[in-house]
Amino acid sequence: MNAHTCSSAAQIVEEARQFAAREIRPLAGKIDANGELPRSLIAKLGERGYLAASWPEEYGGLGLDPVAYGLLTEQIGKACSNTRALLTVQTSLLGETMLRFGTEAQKRFWLPQMARAEKLGAFALSEPHVGSDAKSVQTTYRKEGARYILNGSKKWISFAAIADFFVVIAADSAGQITSFLVEREREGVRTIPMGGMLGNRGVHIAEIHFDEVEVPADNVLGNVGGGFTYVVSTALDHGRYSIAWAGAAIAAEALEAMVTYARSRSQFGEKLHHFQLVKGMIGDAVTKVHAARSLCLSAGEMRRDGAEDAIHQTTIAKYFTSKAAVEVTNDTVQIHGGNGCRSGYPAERLFREAKVLEIIEGTSQIQQQVIAQYGLRKYVVKKQGAVQAGREA
Ligand SMILES: Cc1cc2nc3c(=O)[nH]c(=O)nc-3n(C[C@H](O)[C@H](O)[C@H](O)COP(=O)(O)OP(=O)(O)OC[C@H]3O[C@@H](n4cnc5c(N)ncnc54)[C@H](O)[C@@H]3O)c2cc1C
Repeated sequence: MNAHTCSSAAQIVEEARQFAAREIRPLAGKIDANGELPRSLIAKLGERGYLAASWPEEYGGLGLDPVAYGLLTEQIGKACSNTRALLTVQTSLLGETMLRFGTEAQKRFWLPQMARAEKLGAFALSEPHVGSDAKSVQTTYRKEGARYILNGSKKWISFAAIADFFVVIAADSAGQITSFLVEREREGVRTIPMGGMLGNRGVHIAEIHFDEVEVPADNVLGNVGGGFTYVVSTALDHGRYSIAWAGAAIAAEALEAMVTYARSRSQFGEKLHHFQLVKGMIGDAVTKVHAARSLCLSAGEMRRDGAEDAIHQTTIAKYFTSKAAVEVTNDTVQIHGGNGCRSGYPAERLFREAKVLEIIEGTSQIQQQVIAQYGLRKYVVKKQGAVQAGREA
């Protein structure tokens, strides 16, 4: 039970907004500069149930539906993208996937501890030589009696440097892909923190190396051989929904920074917002922020209602909002002039955080392909009569 058990979804989102303003936004610059999320902040997120916001209450969650969970993600993401990333990984990528494919024993053991931030996880798919072509993972497993033995390396894994366990995607010699829950303390597991990141500097990114790591059969997540089709696809779909909101959130935060600065800075005896070219950037930014948010809301409603095209709408939202965030933050830096190029203002951090969103949970080019395939199926007009009728209408 947590502090929110009796609150409505709207109250929870409003409390998250206030909490983010009070406890997260003031730390955002420091988290980026220091390259770590403070343990005290992670603990507070756990106490408030935010790391399990969309899970059922029986596993320690707040029971928010996808729309309310998206709105909560937006509030955290506006204040600090690194903090929002913790929700993306713990709540969406891992928790929602474990809820669907975990055994009852796995769920009862891991989820309540994750909800309280007593255990953190990481989702280990990408490798040094395998990114977009994720089905080609080179990390291997082989069965020996009742155990599986894992070997290989993962790269770019958010929170791997501090996680207590990893969901590891590996392939056997026949190319069958399976997911395993691997505890950090298992012999043969080693992590190496990765510095020098453009954005997401506070998400404890690391490489993970597996050297003859023994894992019991009980640690298989989902079915043997179902690692990609079920576990990875589901995890990335949930992750994309979270990233879609992350893009909308960064764009909205950047818009506020842009407008505030344009109204306060003067050149040529005028406030910047009086210049038509500056107004043009503000007009575009407002439009993109509204469009990004609308797409996220519609994806959330479709997910809540179990709509057939919910996954596609989520992909479209992720693609659009990450692009919008890059464009809006780019203009925010521009309107800040020299001040946009320095860490005293949030503009440069928002710009760096936005760019990362076009790469994680599937790059923009991969999203474009998926969206195009969907469009090629959905928008083909099969009957000539239907085309004409449609045009006349
Ligand atoms: C900050 C950050 C956090 C991350 N966190 C995690 C994590 O927690 N877990 C995890 O598993 N991974 C994580 N990743 C890895 C991320 O998922 C990959 O970087 C991403 O999938 C892209 O893979 P890649 O970097 O190997 O690029 P590549 O796949 O090598 O792609 C390079 C470029 O080629 C383009 N490209 C590739 N294939 C095609 C194609 N068929 N058609 C057109 N263009 C193509 C891409 O769009 C891209 O522009 C993280 C990465 C970053 C930067």
